[in-house]
This record gives sequence, C-alpha cells and structure tokens, in this order.
Amino acid sequence: MLEFQVLLFYKFVPIIDPELFRKQQLTLCHQLGIIGGRIIISAEGINGTLEGKKQSIQKYIKIMKKDERFCDVAFKVSHSDGSAFPYIIDPITKKTRPKLSIKVRSELVTTDIEGHQKIGPITGKTGKYITAKELHNWIHNSNKEFYIVDMRNDYEYEVGHFKNSVLLKNFKNFRDLPKLLPQLETLKNKTLVTVCTGGIRCEKASGILLDNGFNHVYQLKDGIIKYMERYPNEDFLGKLYVFDQRITIGFNLGDDKHQVVGKCRLCQNNTENLVDYYLRDEQNKILPGRSYGLVCPTCIQQKKVALDTEVINESTLNPA
Ligand SMILES: [Zn+2]
Repeated sequence: MLEFQVLLFYKFVPIIDPELFRKQQLTLCHQLGIIGGRIIISAEGINGTLEGKKQSIQKYIKIMKKDERFCDVAFKVSHSDGSAFPYIIDPITKKTRPKLSIKVRSELVTTDIEGHQKIGPITGKTGKYITAKELHNWIHNSNKEFYIVDMRNDYEYEVGHFKNSVLLKNFKNFRDLPKLLPQLETLKNKTLVTVCTGGIRCEKASGILLDNGFNHVYQLKDGIIKYMERYPNEDFLGKLYVFDQRITIGFNLGDDKHQVVGKCRLCQNNTENLVDYYLRDEQNKILPGRSYGLVCPTCIQQKKVALDTEVINESTLNPA
C-alpha cells in the first residue's frame, strides 16, 4: 500500500523576489511528484501544506533543508490517504489530479493590520517560544499561573482544545483578533501562552498582543500538532482541525483516553460533525447568513438547520 503524507511548515524569512520563488517552488513540486497542496509566499516568507507519497515529501524536506533560509524549519508530517486536497481536471492533460496552488500574497497570515510588516519574527516583535515539553512541564509540574489563549477560529476550538484554555468570543477569522482583544483586558499583566495549529498564526498573534500592551506573552513552538504528537490525548482534548479535506486529525485516536469534546451547537450532544449550515426561524424559513460549526446528524435529520443543498432548493433566501 502506498503511504501518503501531509507536510505542514512555515518560515518567516525575507524573500527577495517572491514571484521568482513561486515559480521555483512550482517546478520543484512538479519534479518531485507532490500531488496537491497550498503554498503561500510573501516577502516575509513561506507557509505551506503539501501532500504526496512519503518519498516525495521526504525529498522535498531534504531539498528545502539544503537552502540556508529553510535549514531550521520544523517540518510537521502527518498521515493521509492521498486525498487531502480536492481533485480538479488538469487543463493540459485533461486528467483529474489534486489541486496544487502556489500563490504570492502580501501577508503570510492575513491580519489586514496597517504596518503588519512590523509584527512577527523578522522584526522580533513576537512572543517568546515555549516548546511542547516546556508547556507540558508548566501544566503538570509547576504552580505557575498562566493562561493558554487559543488563536484559532471558534469552530476549530469546538472540535478540540487545550483543557481550561481561553477562546475569544466571536472569533470567526484571524483578522478579527485586534478588535477582540478587549476580552483579554484582565489578563494584560498575566503570563499568556498563545496556541494555534502549526504555530504560524501565533507568530503574528503573540506580536499583536505585545503591540497592544500585553507584557508576558509566550507562543507554543510548532503549534498544537507537535504537542498532540508528543502528548496524545493528554492536555489537548478532542481532535485537531486541519485546513484540508481530512477536516480533523488526531494521534492515538483508538486510545481509551481520547475523548470527543465537540458539542452540537443546537442540542449540545457530543459530535464531531462540522458542517456549513443556515439557521431556521420559527416558521421553519431559512435565515440568511451561513455558519460553519458542529451540528449533529440528528439535528440535521430533524431539519433544525438547513444545509447548502436545501438552500439551493428553497427560494427563501432571496430577498422578496
Ligand atoms: Zn444536535
């Protein structure tokens, strides 16, 4: 059986000519037979998720490590079945293949903050790194007062999160962070540890906190994925949301200690079923405004919410 892997990595490092680097990355991925994924390149670095056969992914890592800009990158690998990315029809060969998108953007992580270039590892305005091992030690072997602040969106938190961690209310998009900061006002002089999937959002988020007067800010190095891999089913409960078609991943999911923490937004029963949905009013009419979150199969069956397919069939969303 072929073994596929998904690779997650990022690096903040000045890229002199992002467009040229984009072309080089595209060529490299094609040469190695990387089957799908997404890479964002900007003047401040690279952020990528790639899928391929194990040997292709391992070769990609080896080649990247030879480049002194990327020799110290923490490449995070997890298992997949070769279908983590959507399939498209190749315009040239007319055959179906997974989508590989490599784009140049102004920011690696979209903050839309004016002067965003001043925040992050390149300028040094970022939180102090705390490794998975150190955080594990803080949690289990110290009396230290600290707060884990989750920098992910609400639906990511719902399906899995650190025990007793702080989630900002209405966190729907990373860009919302600056306007949600008043919620953390009472923690301004406390020790905070920001966490996110693979670490990249924390590079910016912890910097944004420092920029807004928070004084003791740490960031979990290499993200939740590294922590879960090292300490599966310990302090991070539930599953980890990932931005590909696997939706969520976990380590040692068969273990008795693994628990489902997700709750249906409507009936509160345990579920890990993430869907796009629309709420209905008392007359059962579909309300405008699509949400994404946990809704259990029973509530869907009872039509407490509407899914995309139903919306297309009902004209109720069209304003009269
Ligand atoms: Zn339900």
